[in-house]
Amino acid sequence: MKVLVAVKRVVDYNVKVRVKSDGTGMDIAGVKMSMNPFDEIAVEEAVRLKEKGLATEVVAVSCGVAACGETLRTAMAIGADRGLLVETDAELQPLAVAKLLKAIVEREQPGLVILGKQAIDDDANQTGQMLAALLGWPQATFASKLELDGEGARVTREVDGGLETIGINLPAVVTTDLRLNEPRYVTLPNIMKAKKKSLDTLKPGDLGVDVAPRLQTLKISEPPRRGAGVKVPDVATLVSRLKTEAKVI
Ligand code: AMP
Repeated sequence: MKVLVAVKRVVDYNVKVRVKSDGTGMDIAGVKMSMNPFDEIAVEEAVRLKEKGLATEVVAVSCGVAACGETLRTAMAIGADRGLLVETDAELQPLAVAKLLKAIVEREQPGLVILGKQAIDDDANQTGQMLAALLGWPQATFASKLELDGEGARVTREVDGGLETIGINLPAVVTTDLRLNEPRYVTLPNIMKAKKKSLDTLKPGDLGVDVAPRLQTLKISEPPRRGAGVKVPDVATLVSRLKTEAKVI
C-alpha cells in the first residue's frame, strides 16, 4: 500500500513572528522556515508503516513556493521515498490545498493519506477534513495511535473526555496529533541520501485546479500587551483583590 503524506513549509515554531505595520499579514521576510511539526509526525508515522512492512512506498507532497522543495528533502531524509512539489507563488488556502491533494491522490492512488492536524501558521485545521470530503473517504482526525488491520485501520483519537478508538475502512485520510509518535532526528547520511531521491514538480494548472483564494483576510492585529503584575503580601489580600478588583471570583 502506498502512503501519501502532506508536508507544509511554515515559519519555524521557535520564531516569534510580528504583524506587518499595515495589519495585512505577518512579516516573515528572512525568518527561519521548517516543516510543520505535525507533518513531521505524519512522515514519521508513514515511514514506520513502511519499516513494519505495512506500506510499500511513502510519497511526500508539498504545495507552495519553490523552497517547499527543501521541506520535501527533509521528508525524504526522515525516510519518504520520493517527493512531489506542486509549485505556485499564489497564496494557498486550505480548500485550494485540499483540491490539489485530491488531484494528486487520483494520480497516485494511495491507500492512506496522512496530514498534520493543523498547520502552525494559519491554525486552520481544515485541509484533512476537506480532502476527505472531496474524496468521499473516511477520515480519522487527531490520531494519537494508528494500527492497520487488513482492510481497515483502528485509530485512537484524543477527545475531551479521554481517548476514543474508531475503526475506518481504507482508503482513508488520517490527521496526526502530537502524541502519535516522536519523529526521529534527521542524520547527515540520510540528508545526503535524500538528495538523490526523486522530486517531481507540477503546477496547479497541470492538475486542473483553480487555487484562487476564496477568503479575504480583513485584518491581523497583535494580541493586547499584558500589563505588569503586582505582588501581594498574603493570600487574604490576593483573594480580596481577585474579588473586588479583578472580579474573577
Ligand atoms: P491546515 O488545515 O492549514 O491547518 O493544515 C492541516 C494539514 O494540511 C497540514 O498539517 C499539512 O499536512 C496539510 N497542508 C496544509 N497546507 C499544505 C501545503 N501548502 N502543502 C502541503 N500540505 C499542506
